[in-house]
Amino acid sequence: MPKRSLIYPLFLPMQGCKHRCIYCDQNKISGENTMDLAKELANVSRFIANHPDEDKEVAFYGSSFTALPASYRAELLQQFHKVVDAKTSFRISTHPLYINEEILHTCAAMGIACIELGIQDFCDEVLLATKRGYTGEQAMQAAMLVKHQGFTLGVQLMPGLPASTPATIEHNRLALTALKPEYLRLYPLVVIKGTPLADTYAQGLYAPLELEEAVQICADYAELAEQEGITIIKQGLPSNLNPQEVLAGPFHPSFGEFVLAERLVRHIIREICKGKEIKLDKKQRLLLMGYRGKYWAILQNRLKNCSVVPYEMNCIL
Ligand code: SF4
Repeated sequence: MPKRSLIYPLFLPMQGCKHRCIYCDQNKISGENTMDLAKELANVSRFIANHPDEDKEVAFYGSSFTALPASYRAELLQQFHKVVDAKTSFRISTHPLYINEEILHTCAAMGIACIELGIQDFCDEVLLATKRGYTGEQAMQAAMLVKHQGFTLGVQLMPGLPASTPATIEHNRLALTALKPEYLRLYPLVVIKGTPLADTYAQGLYAPLELEEAVQICADYAELAEQEGITIIKQGLPSNLNPQEVLAGPFHPSFGEFVLAERLVRHIIREICKGKEIKLDKKQRLLLMGYRGKYWAILQNRLKNCSVVPYEMNCIL
């Protein structure tokens, strides 16, 4: 598992993207419009000075970085190279279609160490319904190439895309198991106002996941990730998305905590079924008792449903 480093995030909303994906509005998701280069160079410079002895990354998010004109990419990286130290590398996120040997060679030469691919789904039917412009096989090839060329690989998946089903989720799980990226980000799909998906939703042609469904799917992915040595770095859209911009879908500022709480509930039930005593630490208690005891109630319900009555629980709160 790669050692986590401090990350300074920069946003280049939808820059380089050859078309706009039906669900995307990076300006709203990131809360940024265009990057103020002079301001960010000064911010990065301060970030570097404040953490001289730590491993650091400067990350370019929200764009198809490798689809940007090569001269612009080089110029941008050159500017940031002037303000970083030897303990800093670069991380980018990009679209799987803009990965090839030549691009990766340039990325390595520019100090990029980690590449996150916005794959979203490995299933052809889902990719087609979402008009992503590539097949599952192409996504897999791009990811393999990134990995084999020695980069740290991050995969972004988007549960709840049109045409996704339990079978397509299973396909994604098998793809992750085969690929074993270092990092996984899970962004359950939400309908953002003003996107093409918002129109589809308004016409009744798309139904997003319920919050609880999305939590279950992400908890399943998280269990798989743990088993396969994949580090999950994000679950749920960034909280800088204004909730008023969300028309529908499983958006919640505490989404990641709900997934952790769901996993804790599953763990407690498994241990109780083995007859073990559970001692919860403060953080675990807070997970269960947060949001008016939401997951404590879920735990009690599930225990009832699996015929273990609450007083049999050796669960010390
Ligand atoms: S490629 Fe990524 S950043 Fe660009 S429009 Fe699609 S989802 Fe948004």
